[in-house]
Order: sequence, then C-alpha cells, then structure tokens
Amino acid sequence: MNGYRRVLIKLSGEALAGTLQRGFDHLIITDVVKQLKILVENKVEVSVVIGGGNFWRGRTSGSMDRTKADQIGMLATVMNAIYVADVCRAEGIPSVVQTPFQIGSMTELFSKDAALAHMQAGKIVFFAGGTGHPFFSTDTGAALRGCEIEADALLFAKNIDGVYDSDPKQNPEAKKYTQISCQELLRQNLKAIDAAAATLCIEQKLPIVVFDLGATDGIVRVAKGEHIGTTISIEE
Ligand code: UDP
Repeated sequence: MNGYRRVLIKLSGEALAGTLQRGFDHLIITDVVKQLKILVENKVEVSVVIGGGNFWRGRTSGSMDRTKADQIGMLATVMNAIYVADVCRAEGIPSVVQTPFQIGSMTELFSKDAALAHMQAGKIVFFAGGTGHPFFSTDTGAALRGCEIEADALLFAKNIDGVYDSDPKQNPEAKKYTQISCQELLRQNLKAIDAAAATLCIEQKLPIVVFDLGATDGIVRVAKGEHIGTTISIEE
C-alpha cells in the first residue's frame, strides 16, 4: 500500500459517539477498527489517540477546579482507549494501551521504544491519558506522541470533513480548505486543532490531515495518501 508507513490517528470522542453524542456508537467503532486492521495488514504502523468528549469535557464543567476536571477528562480518554482496544481484540487485532501515568495493571506506561516495538510487531498502540497534565488537550497529546514516535503524519478523524475558514454550522458560506499550512492556521486563528498542538507540529515538521470519520473507508484512504479532507502542511 502506498502512503504513510507510520501514522498516529486521532479520533475525537464525540465522533465515536456518533448521533448518540455520549458513550459509544458500537457500529462506528467497529467500522473504525476494521479500517485499522486493513492498515496493519498492509504493514502500516498504527497508533491511536482518542479524545474524551463523549464522556467529559473538562473545559466546560463550570465552577469545578480545572485541574480536577482535566484529570477526569484524561481518565475518560483511558476508558475510550480500553473500549476501542477491546473491539480490536474482538476483531482479531492485537493492541496495547499506553498511558503517561500508572493505572495499575490496566495499561502499560508510555515508552517510545516499547511503542515502536509493538507497532513493528503488528500491534496497534493506543496512547491514552493525553499528555498526563491538565490544561492540555488530546490534540496536543496526539502531537506530542506523534513527534516522539516519529510518525509520518497525524491523521485527525473528526465529525467535520476538514478545515474551514469559519464555522460551517454558523456560516453557510464557509469555505473548506483542501490544503493550508499549519502556520496559516495559527495566523488565521482557525480552531481546527489547538495552538499548542499546531506549534509542536510546526517545530517538528509533522504534517496533519483533518478528515471526516464518517467518510467511507476514510481512515484507509487518508493513510494511503488520498486527498480527502484538508492537508495541513508545514511551511519551510
Ligand atoms: N485532557 C487533559 N490533558 C491532556 C489531554 C486531555 O487535561 O493532555 C482532558 C481535558 O479535560 C479535555 C479532556 O481530557 O477536555 C478530553 O480531551 P479532549 O477535549 O481533547 O477530547 P476530544 O474533544 O477530542 O473528544
């Protein structure tokens, strides 16, 4: 299969919940896992970061202490990873969940070397728990792990089909970019990915593709290098 050899796929929590908006849409997740399996069978090294928005959004929990709210958010991402990893088991693909903090024997502690060895052995590695620190997002966790494992690209599967110049839900005239640089994304203050993640990707020259999780075989097509969604490149 032409395309990327080592990818980090970021799945937003909301996208995994589908129309249910909370929890898991099992059909969506099974479809995602079947696509990940195709990648692994084609010798692509696959790692995955999952958000937590289908359980908890630390940023919007009102008067609660932000650090505590974010800790719950990070644990929500761990629950998501354990769930999707178990769907991998059911579909016959070995996988490992790594976290930046100890959760007893439920997950493995993050290690670059172990993650690479797992991927090279055909296992999917889930990087759960974000960065392990409050005041960050899973976008930043994905960018950080993507840099650490030297991924070829970050593939962001969302419930929107790319990067727009304004919110298409608010503005029917919103224009979708097929390509934009990460620097331009920051200059225009576009919210497709958060600024900390974008800055890290610029520094480490890590390209990003944003695409619709609902697109048929979207993950496989993007990993093969097909241009659906928006490619976020890095200016020299
Ligand atoms: N979070 C955090 N640090 C991290 C990653 C995530 O504190 O490094 C928390 C934060 O509260 C966030 C929640 O986990 O709101 C879920 O992550 P995110 O909002 O990125 O998930 P998504 O919107 O992609 O589902």
